[in-house]
Amino acid sequence: MDVGGTKILAGIVDPAGRVEHRRERPTELDSQDRLLDELGAAAEELLDDSIAAVGFGLPSRIDQQAGRVDGSVNVPLQDVPLRELMTKRLGRPVALENDGNAAALAEHRAGAGRGAPTMVMLTLGTGVGGGVVVDGNLLRDGGELGHTVLVYDGIPCQGTCTGRGHLEAYVSGTAAAKLAQEAFGPAVDAHRLVRLAAEGDSTAVEILDEIGRKLGAAIGSFVNIFRPQLVVIGGGFASAGDFLLEPARETMRREALPPARGRVQIVRAELGTAAGVIGAALVAYDELGSAG
Ligand SMILES: [Zn+2]
Repeated sequence: MDVGGTKILAGIVDPAGRVEHRRERPTELDSQDRLLDELGAAAEELLDDSIAAVGFGLPSRIDQQAGRVDGSVNVPLQDVPLRELMTKRLGRPVALENDGNAAALAEHRAGAGRGAPTMVMLTLGTGVGGGVVVDGNLLRDGGELGHTVLVYDGIPCQGTCTGRGHLEAYVSGTAAAKLAQEAFGPAVDAHRLVRLAAEGDSTAVEILDEIGRKLGAAIGSFVNIFRPQLVVIGGGFASAGDFLLEPARETMRREALPPARGRVQIVRAELGTAAGVIGAALVAYDELGSAG
């Protein structure tokens, strides 16, 4: 299960990361109770005897030890013992992971990150998710790279985040849509912005270039901290491709230190919208395996 700020994706995933069935429904944002019920119902829709476990990728901060969602920026899930609730409801082992971490694990095992021991992934969607794999191991209980401060005292972050100048406020699909609407009017979203750039509209190209530079500045910091061989960019807004990634590469090379900056590549994710579902399942398989 991949729970996003706008939709819930559910899928049956085999141990190799292949998705067999997929269902999609809008995310219930009215209240926590309604969202919890929606999550249970979405999982139940796909449950049969062949299902060993259920993994949830969530746009949330998770306490792995307690199996609790501590809080979320873009969905109404705060301080809820989700693992216990869902284990009871679904009658199967349940694993939880932050959605950015789940996507990073999926790309590392089955997508663009294969063969890179250390990689950083950023997912650009409603918010900005992140995940880090170091020497083949996913860093769990962390990964909120989207809430890295990019500009001190900058523009307010999104949702329930009280921060200012966070990466998410500048490079998410939501942030892109805001800039697009200022330039082109209320009907233009991030996807339309990308299409306009592809049609050669210079204002659209400039907007994406500026977002790409900010993204590259943040990536430069992540390269300095983690020294990855690979930075993978996914999420819906990654469809902007090189309109974002070229300026990001240029800025990263200015901000990151040698020799890491000369070795790192910034590439697009390969698994598309399935990354979150695949990653959530892989986390659940890993936990089943380690439980014996
Ligand atoms: Zn924030």
